Amino acid sequence: MIPRLSNSPQLDEVTKTYLNTLKDSGFTGDIASDYASCLTMATDNSIYQLMPQAILFPRSTEDVQLITYLANQDTFQTLKFTPRGGGTGTNGQSLNRGIVVDLSRYMNRILAVNIEEGWVKVEAGVIKDQLNEYLKQYDYFFAPELSTSNRATIGGMINTDASGQGSMVYGKTSDHVLSVKAVLINGEILETSKKSIAEVENIANNSIIYRTTYEYCKNHRQLILNKFPKLNRFLTGYDLKNVFNDNLTEFDLTRILTGSEGSLAFITEAKLNIIPKPKYRLLMNIKYDSFQSALSNAPFLVKAEALSVETVDSKVLGLAKEDIIWQSIKELITDVSGHDMQGINIVEFAGNDYELTKGKLDNLSKQIDKLMMNHCLGIIGYQTCENLDEIEKIYAMRKKAVGLLGNAKGTRKPIPFVEDTCVPPEHLADYITEFRALLDSYHLTYGMFGHVDSGVLHVRPALDMCDPEQEKLMKTISDQVVGLTAKYGGLLWGEHGKGFRSEYSPAFFGEELYQGLRAIKTAFDPHNRLNPGKICPPLNVDDGMLTVSSTTRGFYDRQIPLSVKEVFHGATECNGNGLCFNFDVNSPMCPSMKLSGNRVYSPKGRATLVREWLRLMIESGVTEQELNSLLPTKHSTLVAFTKKIANTVKAKFGEYDFSHDVKDSMNHCLSCKACSTQCPIKIDVPDFKARFLQLYHTRYLRPVRDYLVGNIESYLPLMAKAPRFFNFFMKMPVTEYVTNKTVGMVSLPMLSVPTLKKQLVGHNSANIKLEQLQKFSEEERSQYVLVVQDPFTSYYDAKVVYDFVCLIETLGYKPVVLPFVPNGKAQHIKGFLKQFAKTAHTASQALSQIAQLGIPMVGVDPALVLCYRDEYKLILQDKVSDFKVLLSHEWLTNIADHLPNSTQLKTIDREKWYLLGHCSETTQLPASNQQWQQIFKQFGTDLQPIRVGCCGMAGTYGHEVNNLAASKQLYELSWQRALTNYPKERCLTTGYSCRSQVKRFDKFIMKHPIQALLGMIQVNCQ
Ligand SMILES: Cc1cc2nc3c(=O)[nH]c(=O)nc-3n(C[C@H](O)[C@H](O)[C@H](O)COP(=O)(O)OP(=O)(O)OC[C@H]3O[C@@H](n4cnc5c(N)ncnc54)[C@H](O)[C@@H]3O)c2cc1C
Ligand code: SF4
Ligand code: SF4
Repeated sequence: MIPRLSNSPQLDEVTKTYLNTLKDSGFTGDIASDYASCLTMATDNSIYQLMPQAILFPRSTEDVQLITYLANQDTFQTLKFTPRGGGTGTNGQSLNRGIVVDLSRYMNRILAVNIEEGWVKVEAGVIKDQLNEYLKQYDYFFAPELSTSNRATIGGMINTDASGQGSMVYGKTSDHVLSVKAVLINGEILETSKKSIAEVENIANNSIIYRTTYEYCKNHRQLILNKFPKLNRFLTGYDLKNVFNDNLTEFDLTRILTGSEGSLAFITEAKLNIIPKPKYRLLMNIKYDSFQSALSNAPFLVKAEALSVETVDSKVLGLAKEDIIWQSIKELITDVSGHDMQGINIVEFAGNDYELTKGKLDNLSKQIDKLMMNHCLGIIGYQTCENLDEIEKIYAMRKKAVGLLGNAKGTRKPIPFVEDTCVPPEHLADYITEFRALLDSYHLTYGMFGHVDSGVLHVRPALDMCDPEQEKLMKTISDQVVGLTAKYGGLLWGEHGKGFRSEYSPAFFGEELYQGLRAIKTAFDPHNRLNPGKICPPLNVDDGMLTVSSTTRGFYDRQIPLSVKEVFHGATECNGNGLCFNFDVNSPMCPSMKLSGNRVYSPKGRATLVREWLRLMIESGVTEQELNSLLPTKHSTLVAFTKKIANTVKAKFGEYDFSHDVKDSMNHCLSCKACSTQCPIKIDVPDFKARFLQLYHTRYLRPVRDYLVGNIESYLPLMAKAPRFFNFFMKMPVTEYVTNKTVGMVSLPMLSVPTLKKQLVGHNSANIKLEQLQKFSEEERSQYVLVVQDPFTSYYDAKVVYDFVCLIETLGYKPVVLPFVPNGKAQHIKGFLKQFAKTAHTASQALSQIAQLGIPMVGVDPALVLCYRDEYKLILQDKVSDFKVLLSHEWLTNIADHLPNSTQLKTIDREKWYLLGHCSETTQLPASNQQWQQIFKQFGTDLQPIRVGCCGMAGTYGHEVNNLAASKQLYELSWQRALTNYPKERCLTTGYSCRSQVKRFDKFIMKHPIQALLGMIQVNCQ
């Protein structure tokens, strides 16, 4: 039995009183101070971990004002605040002690747009891709780009002065912020915009902020110009140079706030410059024999008037090739036969005049052809791309590259600390040679890619931060890279801001300018209450800075034994890059996060909680063996059972145990497995969720519902003997009431009538025995197909299985429906790992024996079939037997040559079909949509895959009373919209869960694609 984890950090009295007073003062946002919420805000994508006391989630500027007004009272003067957006910083910018103010949860409205004047007004929590999605209708866009565009907020972008691909032309975020509305620490509102000098001088009379900034920047102009880098990239905190325009006729305080890393004010709204999208975008992917060749060639490419030049090295390419993302671009960046592709340059041309833009591309092509003919510069080939969709896919790969680096094998992980250096592009190749020599001298591996046009290179050296010696090495390398960038006239903080690296500022700026920065900080925040420890302290405040050597996540992680880390590897390997916060409702990642907006209910949140839970378990004396064991080590005794009852009762009465926080987070997980493929590190939450549940329930009783769900496969075959009786019984209002109130299940599906067995009566497929098949020759067997049953389709949607049997037959093969063998997926979801291991072992034995017949085994439900490939491997490991159950589209693809083709069909169904993908299928088998399309094409019919998120059912999740509202909302977010936009009767899906969800909420029975195919063939047979 696991112990109770009762020692969570307690709130100090001042914070407690502050939060209570805030609650009573009309604050409309959320307030969280529980351990779980604080933990999820204790990390970003950096190497650091710092626990805040509490988190506030304001809903409006007025809420932020309330926070600061109240904080201004004498009693609360000691409290410190740190604004937070998407939390994707790579240098701990949003991490701090004190109170975190997260503006991303609610302050995400687009407030106004004016296309004629080219601006949009947004709240600070709007996500960059969300904004551009909105602006699509006007053919406009917000230009500054960054890899985390699907989860980074405008507030975060402004405060880190984010930029990325295309910055040579489009500039940085600060170049596009027209004005901001900010709340100062004293509760005052500050609205900034460009002002004439006369106006500023007037305002400065009454504003210490304006006076200090204006006078300092004016009086030290020459020093500032000398010191500030003449690079495409600015540095965060504070832009003393660009507050003035070049001829000093205008002054804009906005420029001081952009890049201030939350150290000056809370930005609540911003008016942003937007520009028309270029009509034409063309891409050239140039391939090289070495990364050095790619780097050396970059200046030449920039001269070709390209919008951007992005370089990727072989390490990143290799990792991308192992990721789901490669599927979408593998034809766009193909290998060159006879060569080893060690690097690529992605060159983009954009413009509104096609001829002109294409001319530039063609011109470059000719020059590259010539270089290749002369075997110059290591160029081994290139491909061009004009299709916008394809261009976006290549950039999606490039954007995922940072995250993918984290997926390196072994304990040394590529980590960010010197990852965004910037040097003048003409020195980049030399600089990199020295940088590499430095890393090589420590025998470190690393991946590299970046914006070579602006001299920014992303390098993440691989270190094991759990090893204190390597942690020290991180600091040594940081210092050396600072020296190296200085040598080449560059910057350590070329793109991702300073954060914990602010300690290098005094040396960079020199004493005089550094004091200027402090003076500005003093004017905004005299008592160091906003994001203290970052950028610089106010004058006369000696609080100390957060440094590169501050407490890292490695400090906590190293308390978990290696073997436990390996077993719970998903939880320990998450690097916090935040891709699982993806805002896009039509992306499968992560439904529970998307719906709640609560980071605790994201894969990152779950990984964070389980990591801490493991650490605390070890601290409480639980052994590695107990944590790693798949099965409880001791059999349940009456004493243990009695203790469990007592523990459960105490929990009901509110006894605290951190395990309950973890359990709550897991309760919201749909086990959809999107994280296991979409996350760059492939964090498999359902895997560690099952392990956690198993251990949790050694201490606490399980609800009856878990037993009903976990054992469903044993009683379904029995119920199917009298389906009408059970359906009648299940439909009775009293039964519904009882299952709802006592078991906690709703809208349970009805058993199929007639049952599959009845539908197959007299059909050969049900009569033939395996022993008979064994006696057949190989050739005879090649005519057969074995249909693997799953509990849900066979017992609740039997017509689909029957239609599949008919389809097989109509295609000229002989189907045999295999006897039902429990699959165990439901046991896994509920964390009955012991039982699941047993079920998996039995099924695996049975299916591998059948596999020896050499006859294809095919199932129709993706979640259940993929369980054989994934969960079985994880639980049985080397004991997993050798068999493969195909999905219907895989089998159809394998026999494509034997399928009738459109020229042989009398009647062709010319109306389009639409495929709403099942999330497990589309994420785990990324080629599945294309394969289905190809199959339909063979029949002369168009099938269009529709991007949808999770349907909200996910097995039994949607049937649980507690999840009903969430399940419905998820359905409405994506599936219901899609079904409104396309003709329902032409919409198809492969998942049983999805079909039952559509039936439940839209009273419509969706078909499986195999049923559409059957219909098409049967028409021809008539
Ligand atoms: C995989 C990966 C790739 C990345 N690629 C890029 C890239 O291409 N280009 C790039 O520029 N960056 C990149 N970054 C860094 C990061 O995404 C950016 O810095 C981004 O702008 C941070 O936005 P956020 O909303 O996550 O802000 P957070 O990380 O939450 O906060 C960043 C800073 O802004 C402050 N802040 C946030 N909101 C407000 C507000 N409303 N008011 C006042 N202060 C606020 C915080 O206090 C903090 O100091 C990358 C990060 C990762 C993990
Ligand atoms: S779960 Fe994956 S996507 Fe989410 S933060 Fe962790 S590593 Fe990134
Ligand atoms: S399984 Fe699905 S719901 Fe659960 S964490 Fe992963 S993506 Fe989110």
